[in-house]
Amino acid sequence: MQNKFYLYTRKSTDVEDKQVLSIEAQLVELREYAKRENLDISAEYIEKKSAKSPGRPIFGKMLADIEQNGGNILAWHPDRLARNSIDGGQIIYLLDSSRLTTLKFPSFWFESTSQGKFMLSIAFGQSKYYVDNLAENTKRGLRQKVRRGECPGRAPLGYINDVRTKTIVVDKHHAPLVIKALELYAVGDKRLQDIADFLASKNVKTDGGLPLKKDQIAKILTNPFYYGHIRYAGEVYEGKHTPIISKKLFDDVQTVYEKRRHKRTTKHNEPKPLCGLLRCGSCNMMITGENQTKRQKNGNVHYYTYYHCTKKRKGIKCPESHIRQEVLDEQLSSLLNEYAMPDSWASTLNKMLAEDEQKEQNASGVFVANAQTKIVNLQSKLQRLLDGYLDQDIEREVYVTNKAQLMSEKKSLEEQSSKLTLASSAWVEPMRKWIETAVSICKTTANDDLLAKKSLCLEIFGSNLLLKNKKAQPPAAQEISPTFRGPETSSLKTSFQEKVSLQTATGSSHPSENIWFLLRKTKEKIARMGDNSEFCPFLVRVRGL
Ligand SMILES: [Zn+2]
Repeated sequence: MQNKFYLYTRKSTDVEDKQVLSIEAQLVELREYAKRENLDISAEYIEKKSAKSPGRPIFGKMLADIEQNGGNILAWHPDRLARNSIDGGQIIYLLDSSRLTTLKFPSFWFESTSQGKFMLSIAFGQSKYYVDNLAENTKRGLRQKVRRGECPGRAPLGYINDVRTKTIVVDKHHAPLVIKALELYAVGDKRLQDIADFLASKNVKTDGGLPLKKDQIAKILTNPFYYGHIRYAGEVYEGKHTPIISKKLFDDVQTVYEKRRHKRTTKHNEPKPLCGLLRCGSCNMMITGENQTKRQKNGNVHYYTYYHCTKKRKGIKCPESHIRQEVLDEQLSSLLNEYAMPDSWASTLNKMLAEDEQKEQNASGVFVANAQTKIVNLQSKLQRLLDGYLDQDIEREVYVTNKAQLMSEKKSLEEQSSKLTLASSAWVEPMRKWIETAVSICKTTANDDLLAKKSLCLEIFGSNLLLKNKKAQPPAAQEISPTFRGPETSSLKTSFQEKVSLQTATGSSHPSENIWFLLRKTKEKIARMGDNSEFCPFLVRVRGL
């Protein structure tokens, strides 16, 4: 086994292998070398692939044989074996694990010692460096080419590479088709597929004889080459070739392309405005939205948004069907309109509110003024106490006790008066805002701002709206619990605060329990009575409802 050698030769069509001995020459040299050194060659491996990246089948097979049976390798130079770090590492590993005993190269001295392995890894590394360097040089060469205004690589559709002059010239057959395709797209009503179909109908195909795909069409539509520029590695250079379209046409195409692309992405990704508002009346899962496109035979395109149950509930086959956004919008609007407050009510309520606010401010004003006087008194008492203590008329113990008591009284008064000042306005603003919202409902439902309608629905119904039998509906109205009924004499304030705090305390805003519900009930009642004058007590005297 000591003497069993695997002979490996490799030469690829890569540029960097140009200077390397041909495979035949490598074989001759290696066989002679083996004879001279008295090496027993048990197998020969011939590879015609690049070693830039891993994945050479013959090389892999050789390593597998060594792994299984052990042995040695004979090759012309380390760079025949590896030009990437993975393959190089594999060989070093086989040496380390003693499956591979040694390596022989006519053009490179190697000894299986730690120093030898180190040298070998450097040889592999240098090969890698050479590859990296070459790739860098090639790129640099291409960049140099575009700077000179020459197109690196293959000419785009509509042009051909003239190999004799090494320039790019207009393809007389395809250029008019490319121009036509760009003009068609610039109109704005064509999809990428339509352009692909057009080119296919003119027999424009890929090298493989297939019609162009949508992403290839997109590349054509956005290639500045056609108006005279070259885009290379994200940068645009002036080209030397003949433009076939105007910059104006190109810009028109870009506008359409961006618009249509944007349309498509928003269509798919934007959350639908009424999502997250309703639950399914059958299985209680959330209702979600989805866009649909309908193409008619006459070429008209319609976009619809549908809402439907997510149907994610396990074990239940939900029977509910979908609903069009327009229909749902109409239903929600009419639901909301039931909660709208007539303008005349609002002005009366606002007047009452202003009166209540004034009364309250007066009441608290009196208290606050009293408290202020008391605080001033306490202050002077404290001063006198300190004077007495400093004049040594009062014992320290008495001073400390009395001072603590006066300070505590003063603190309580200060706290109460600041609380009162705040409290008088604490309920007025929310109430005023509520009236404002209630009045503007009709305005909100009349326009098509779906998000505004959604947030209004959430305020009134919470997340309790259901969609059942293609109909949006509040949960079944419940009787108002007796504890929620205000006393006959309750003021606007207590009535409002009760309803609002109820809402926040229970964490739910079930419409049968909140102030919106009272508003709707009152409207119904007054409609029954056919009289609009006696509405005011509805909030004040809830019992009557
Ligand atoms: Zn459902």
